Amino acid sequence: MKNLGKIFILAFLQVGVILTLPLFMTDAAKESPIVPTAAVMAEVVETDPPTVEQEVRIRLLVDGIEQEMNLEEYLVGVVAAEMPASFEPEALKAQAVAARSYAMFRIASNAHGGAICSDYGCCQAWLSEEQLQEKWVAAYDDYSEKIRTAVSETKGQCLSYNGEAILAAFHSSSGGKTESSENVFGQALPYLVSVESREDPAAVPNYISTVELTESELYSAVAAWNEAAAVRVSDGALLSEAVFSTSGRLMSVKLCGEAVSGSELRSIFALRSTDVSWQRSESGLCFTVTGYGHGVGMSQYGANNMAKLGSSWEEIVLHYYPGADIVPVSAIAGNSEVL
Ligand SMILES: [Zn+2]
Repeated sequence: MKNLGKIFILAFLQVGVILTLPLFMTDAAKESPIVPTAAVMAEVVETDPPTVEQEVRIRLLVDGIEQEMNLEEYLVGVVAAEMPASFEPEALKAQAVAARSYAMFRIASNAHGGAICSDYGCCQAWLSEEQLQEKWVAAYDDYSEKIRTAVSETKGQCLSYNGEAILAAFHSSSGGKTESSENVFGQALPYLVSVESREDPAAVPNYISTVELTESELYSAVAAWNEAAAVRVSDGALLSEAVFSTSGRLMSVKLCGEAVSGSELRSIFALRSTDVSWQRSESGLCFTVTGYGHGVGMSQYGANNMAKLGSSWEEIVLHYYPGADIVPVSAIAGNSEVL
């Protein structure tokens, strides 16, 4: 309503009309070459701003090939790729909003010149219709409908902080608490702090996992990371001076005397998360790991558990991204992609 007041004032002053108008115009209106008059502007005041209805086009990079598509259509392929379609409808909606927000964040960050890629390790995963047919086979029609509903029922809804799209990180599962962004990405963000994540261990595949390595496997894994350090594998203090965060994840440790972060250790030994403990024996080493993923932002299994217990998608995203606002995607600052 604040924006409507702004238009109303501009209609009378006839100042800055051209600069302000595109934010509130429909596609059809934008195609008109006629510069609106104050009278036309007054008509705009009488209607709701078409913010949620505006079409956002994005540029998607798949294996280096760029294609342009509607943001909402793109999100169907993201939600389908990033979250099991068997999840609760409200969890799928929460995923759609998180994915929409992250897409806008990523585009604004200019990581790919304003485009976004389908590599889950870089931006976020995306699957085409053909890939989804192969993935879901007989369940395609049901799952496709379910995902499309989750996207359309949250159409244009985005999470923002201080008027900008948030870095809506998400992961598979957390062992009771999520992790702060500072402890994983090295940057503190007010909406990516550690929060409780109640999950049903029986409903999460491999909630607890183990990685067992023999002495020779241990040597090979360490040598692949640091050949010089690998000679000290059998010297005694293989892992020492471990520091854990308040959420229980490994922050740092010395591996064969060399300092590594929890994320680095996770990578060296292909652990599912940094929520890890270990036991050394004469035959080797055994890691015990809880959850899956970096632990920052929304836990997907936690979101599904909240949905099962009756939470709405709004309650889910505001739990995992505390302090964020739910806004129309067109309200995101610097969003030049809104047509
Ligand atoms: Zn990318």
